[in-house]
Amino acid sequence: MVDVVIDEAVDETEARVWLRQYNDELRKRKTSLNEASWAHSTDMNPATAEAAIQANNQVHEWKLKKLKEASRFTPAAYSEDLRRQFWLISLDGTPEDSNDLRQMSKLTNDIESLYSTGKACREENENEVCHPLEPDLEHIFATSRDYDELEWAWIGFRDAIGPAMRDKFARLVELKNSGAGEHGFGNFWELLSAPFEIENLLEVANGLWSEIRPLYVQLHAYVRRRLASFYGEDKVSTTGPIPAHLLGNIWAKWWSNIYDLVAPYPDQPDMNVTSVLLQKGYDPLRMFKIAEKFFTSIGLRELPEVFWEKSMIVRPADREVSCHPTSWDFYHHSDVRVKMCTEVNHEFLGTIHHELGHIQYFLQYEDQPMLYRDGANPGFHEAVGDTVSLSAMTPAHLRTVGLLTDWPDTHESEINFLLRQALDKIPALAMGVMIDTWQSRVFSGKITADEYNREWWKLRLEYQGLSPPVPRTEEDFDAGSKFHIVYGFAMMRYFVSYIIQFQFHESLCREAGYPHGQLHKCDIYGSSQAGDRLREMLRMGNSQPWPEAMKVMTGQNKMAASAILEYFQPLMKWLREQNGDESIGW
Ligand SMILES: [Zn+2]
Repeated sequence: MVDVVIDEAVDETEARVWLRQYNDELRKRKTSLNEASWAHSTDMNPATAEAAIQANNQVHEWKLKKLKEASRFTPAAYSEDLRRQFWLISLDGTPEDSNDLRQMSKLTNDIESLYSTGKACREENENEVCHPLEPDLEHIFATSRDYDELEWAWIGFRDAIGPAMRDKFARLVELKNSGAGEHGFGNFWELLSAPFEIENLLEVANGLWSEIRPLYVQLHAYVRRRLASFYGEDKVSTTGPIPAHLLGNIWAKWWSNIYDLVAPYPDQPDMNVTSVLLQKGYDPLRMFKIAEKFFTSIGLRELPEVFWEKSMIVRPADREVSCHPTSWDFYHHSDVRVKMCTEVNHEFLGTIHHELGHIQYFLQYEDQPMLYRDGANPGFHEAVGDTVSLSAMTPAHLRTVGLLTDWPDTHESEINFLLRQALDKIPALAMGVMIDTWQSRVFSGKITADEYNREWWKLRLEYQGLSPPVPRTEEDFDAGSKFHIVYGFAMMRYFVSYIIQFQFHESLCREAGYPHGQLHKCDIYGSSQAGDRLREMLRMGNSQPWPEAMKVMTGQNKMAASAILEYFQPLMKWLREQNGDESIGW
């Protein structure tokens, strides 16, 4: 028995020719689409919005047409390479009905605009002043230690966007589900998670999370106790969930902004380099240069001229823009750009390394056919810059580049550093599983539109041990305050990234000759061996299933929590000692 009847198959050569044309045309179309989206994101007004919607619809309609055309081919009879390309083409959820498509684009644009123009307003010196998320509210969350002000900012942003977004979002869920259904997916979540090429993605993620959760629970208990002693036990209970507005970030995703409140050894120097950056007169451009130098030190590519010409690296004063940091590939002549509203501080130095990881990936796989010009899976794309950051943001490295002047090599400073790292990595992992559990249940219908917010907070509590600062109702739509939900991303891209970047780091450190057990101290700067290993994986793009790319990089073909746990092992031990018999959990 053969499972493919070859004589009915369309000739492979014909399929190959068709795919070549598909790739060429897709490239051109994505170039124009990204130009239109870029024009809108860097100058948000009704005209650019309309043009972006048009461009988006055109690509969708074209893809739909080609998808129908592709149905005459018989991928099962072809080589693996061709089968993969046809599979990638099939990952499409565009509704057949052009009215549905138009409605979908319009609603998507509406909620994205609500999100990116949402402001929290208050009276200041007898005038009403409205603050956008970036940079005003982010700054307030990072620096304010005033319980009431944080509560105002937390509520204000959500009030500005949630209620107005809720019905639109619910309608979008229907449209996205029906689009995905037309293409053979059970619901939109199935489509969203397909590119990860992991069977039962959320189960796998929950399995990994259960290994990391003990560290999260220790961290949570420690932070909670410190917050309770700062804000008072009437505001923060020492046994219950933490109020979500006190963690230094509007979503409580990264907690390192409250490092000053939770520093293990406050008399030891902090590794935050913000003050040195300011003292030394760094500007955003120079911060980019220092990050670029790390990539070139391991033999990766310099940023092309066009990057410097066309990127938006600071917030322009004269127009509304979307500030959320993003990296863009324009798919021709190495035209790659970032869009972000850089501030001169420690956090942004990390963000720059992160974004330049995306840019480096774009540059390395630029010779692949268009369908393969992507990460091995979405998590890989997010992991590249972070992997570099694990070296570039170590105290030892920051000292080398003159950004950290006073850093003693003591156990105390090591714990200070690891706690700061943990505040950024571990809560974000919790949030990743939490959000996608919510998304998958929403798209599968397990969570219905009349219980969006209740279920949101149930999961916030279950996974993260967080509670809202004030009671929430179904009038509110707190999921809508999160960029990735509004913009239709799976958070698994970050979850996967936060797991595998430690695996990558471990293998690059081995390559660079770093001793075992020193993962948190390793810096691969200047190691061309590490760079070669990384480049080999980056150049593959998405041409093979991710376990192959993982193997090139690490020798393993599975995600594993062992590297991240090893990295934080000294901190875990310290947290256990600190928490002792105190209550943990919530
Ligand atoms: Zn990213």
